Amino acid sequence: MRLRILGSAAAEGWPAMFCSCPACQKARANGGKDLRRRTAYMLDDDTLIDYGPDIYAQSLEFNLDLAKVKRLLITHSHTDHLTPRELTWRRKGFSTAQNLMKIYANQASADRINECPTYDSLEPLKAELHILKPGDKLVDEDLTIQTILADHAQPPEEPLNYILERNGVCVFIGNDSGWWCQESWDIIGQYKYDIVIIECTYGVRWPEQRAKHMGANVSVAVRDELKRLGCLKENALVAVNHFSHNIQNLHTDLEQFFNPKGILVGYDGMILER
Ligand SMILES: [Zn+2]
Ligand SMILES: [Zn+2]
Ligand SMILES: [Zn+2]
Repeated sequence: MRLRILGSAAAEGWPAMFCSCPACQKARANGGKDLRRRTAYMLDDDTLIDYGPDIYAQSLEFNLDLAKVKRLLITHSHTDHLTPRELTWRRKGFSTAQNLMKIYANQASADRINECPTYDSLEPLKAELHILKPGDKLVDEDLTIQTILADHAQPPEEPLNYILERNGVCVFIGNDSGWWCQESWDIIGQYKYDIVIIECTYGVRWPEQRAKHMGANVSVAVRDELKRLGCLKENALVAVNHFSHNIQNLHTDLEQFFNPKGILVGYDGMILER
């Protein structure tokens, strides 16, 4: 299974659009791994995880054929993870997509999708909405989808993280979230992972942050807890992702902290394969 990171920034992107702070200036000068689009992932070539405002640019940058996408998994309703109006372009006259694309989302995300003013319904877009709750587990063709409750968006929204299994390979995508509740850990502990994404919005600057988002020490503690639970397969790939530019830690700063601990630092275009 191949997981490609399409974006590695928090909501504002990095460089942030209207920001000239030192970290944004350095990112503009450095380019490469310091340019971070809004967080999203492509699993193999048929499953997108999140659909933020950079999806079109990501499709160009990483040569994605979005017409092949069979399913869209939305974590939560925040605008960096969900841009419903970009679904508009699946409609006849603009798209050759033939398949029915399934959109899996929590209720708050489904409400945003249904209320988007640029289309009347999902039918002409050849898209179909499936509402998920935390703890749901379902099988869609050869992909097993398990949700857990994330520690993130304001109630009553129930933000989701996803555990995905295909051909015996298991991926856990853990953003956006702080440290999970026990019910979520109980589900996390039932799987053995080949690839794990841990979020790190607060970076090395605020390392102890553990509510709603995580800082670097808490990201490491997640990896350690997964190890303690026996949930990491040998040679599992563990990467941190979803960084706010406010941390001011450039890619090499993050690598200096994480690489000696055996944790990879996500960047746009990174491929994790098992
Ligand atoms: Zn986010
Ligand atoms: Zn900045
Ligand atoms: Zn969020």
